[in-house]
Amino acid sequence: VRQSATPRYSSSSSSAKARRVLVTGAAGFVGAHVSIALKRRGDGVVGLDNYNKYYDPSLKRARTDLLRREGVFIVEGDINDAVLLRELFRLVKFTHVMHLAAQAGVRYAMKNPASYVHSNIAGLVSLFEVCKSANPQPAIVWASSSSVYGLNSKVPFSEKDRTDQPASLYAATKKAGEEIAHTYNHIYGLSITGLRFFTVYGPWGRPDMAYFFFTKDILKGKQISIFEGPNHSSVARDFTYIDDIVKGCLGALDTAKKSTGSGGKKMGPAQLRVFNLGNTSPVPVSKLVSILEKLLKVKAKKKILPMPSNGDVLFTHANISSATREIGYKPSTDLQTGVIFMNVFSTLTIIDVVVPPVNIATMASSEEVP
Ligand code: NAD
Repeated sequence: VRQSATPRYSSSSSSAKARRVLVTGAAGFVGAHVSIALKRRGDGVVGLDNYNKYYDPSLKRARTDLLRREGVFIVEGDINDAVLLRELFRLVKFTHVMHLAAQAGVRYAMKNPASYVHSNIAGLVSLFEVCKSANPQPAIVWASSSSVYGLNSKVPFSEKDRTDQPASLYAATKKAGEEIAHTYNHIYGLSITGLRFFTVYGPWGRPDMAYFFFTKDILKGKQISIFEGPNHSSVARDFTYIDDIVKGCLGALDTAKKSTGSGGKKMGPAQLRVFNLGNTSPVPVSKLVSILEKLLKVKAKKKILPMPSNGDVLFTHANISSATREIGYKPSTDLQTGVIFMNVFSTLTIIDVVVPPVNIATMASSEEVP
């Protein structure tokens, strides 16, 4: 694993009071980055992950090696295992839960719908059940998704917009998660903050994301498909760099109020929030491909196709004014800079046998970068 792929969070003597945080999905892309950031600022972190095979678990193991070197305590297990969760809460009086474990991915829902119900609905309820009975009850920050906006075409998406038209089962389970959060807040006094992430990218990223399979296929000289909307309109995403997402997660954690329940009973009004964490500047997927072409110095073989009905939406664009105001969220990385920082090869070298014949250092400092 190359040193250049290591996330760049500085150790700091944060003035924030040290917290005891359970991070679920810690071996995942976002979970690993958030765990390291929390640990480096002095919080106690226990990471939980079931190492499922949605994508190559060797990438999750590689992230875990990194986490262990940082001093993060890792437990292998499933959020549906209430016995394990209760034992963890007995051993560590968690002040916060950063819940990032989920079945991610939009298209995979057509192959394995049960995995979405297992992790994103049953798993969420299992975790909330244990949190509700814990003493103290932790404040919870969890990952929802921009996909809840579904077929809503009013952009930029604001938290008040309609979310009743999910375009995929993934989106439906995230939307259900938000409704479930409402009930646990209402009945049991759990403090819950949902974060709607917008297409996150960065080092150690998920290999099922477009930027990885585009890079792989461009390097192999394979044709890539770029989808377009009606009347040749661009399909665009509000790509958001992982360091910005991590700052948003920490901002949400630091402004989370205490839960107000005890012994499974609500004792007072509790905090319930939801925020968009996006970049506020959607980029057409074709532009992402041209950035990759210039970095790789290889021309992609492109095929333009109409967007199929596979759960993806045409366009995402976050309004982040609420997150900026309430949790101090201010993304600062544009796509081109982020793509250079992310070093796609860090993931490709772990999951692929063949290391691409490109010098990363030269690539990152190239003046030909657009
Ligand atoms: P990821 O797949 O890399 O990480 C999720 C981790 O959770 C994996 O390591 C997986 O093994 C673990 N996991 C899944 N089900 C589990 C279970 N039942 N018990 C224990 N562990 C389990 O995905 P990610 O990109 O890091 O996403 C993190 C969160 O952010 C997810 O909730 C995802 O839905 C959400 N999200 C991500 C994006 C994005 O662009 N990456 C966008 C919107 C929302």
